[in-house]
Amino acid sequence: MKIIVFLGAPGSGKGTQAKSLADRLGFIHFSTGDMLREAIQRKEPVGVQANQYIVKGELVPDPVMIELIENALSPLNNTATVVLDGFPRTLPQAKALDSSAKTKVSIAVSFSVPQNVLVDRLTGRRICKQCGASYHTVFLPPKQDFICDKCQGPLFQRPDDNQSVVVNRLKVFESQNADLLKHYESTHRLVTVNGDRPVNVVQSDLDRLLG
Ligand code: AMP
Repeated sequence: MKIIVFLGAPGSGKGTQAKSLADRLGFIHFSTGDMLREAIQRKEPVGVQANQYIVKGELVPDPVMIELIENALSPLNNTATVVLDGFPRTLPQAKALDSSAKTKVSIAVSFSVPQNVLVDRLTGRRICKQCGASYHTVFLPPKQDFICDKCQGPLFQRPDDNQSVVVNRLKVFESQNADLLKHYESTHRLVTVNGDRPVNVVQSDLDRLLG
């Protein structure tokens, strides 16, 4: 199995890029944020537990997250290439992946974006309830207010994209990120991408790196 991890602050574009890379190159994509939101919707115990942290912009405890990702990866066969988006977020999570030959990370891509850009991106973000497509009130508005261009589903704002939770999510990210970068840099697996550019420009960089 080949594991690629996307590191970056909330709003850095790693989710958008991970989805599109996986679609184009046939990789398997796991977003731990999406997995948790689905578990919340289905009222599964892990979702109920995680939601207490998510609404405050805090991290769900490592043992919960490590079990979630191990359960997702274990059925896959060794020929799969997997993009992880939103995992690892802490050093223990990174070490858990590396602790098994099957899930050892091949490359970590870090998306770098200035803080003020992140706040604007997150607070204006709107998501389609039906297909998950992402819009922005200013940078990428839908053709019709509150309606998805792709599937006509209703758009909503994630509860944790409001200003006060966003500020905490970015603070939490800052507190964990340096350790993660060090972990991958010291083992020569880190590449950094400037995420403060148009989606298609970042995308062609990633294709060159990972295709
Ligand atoms: P995201 O959609 O990636 O921004 O994740 C939304 C929220 O889910 C985060 O703010 C965390 O509360 C939680 N979460 C997602 N992935 C992780 C992880 N790897 N470790 C801890 N919490 C996570």
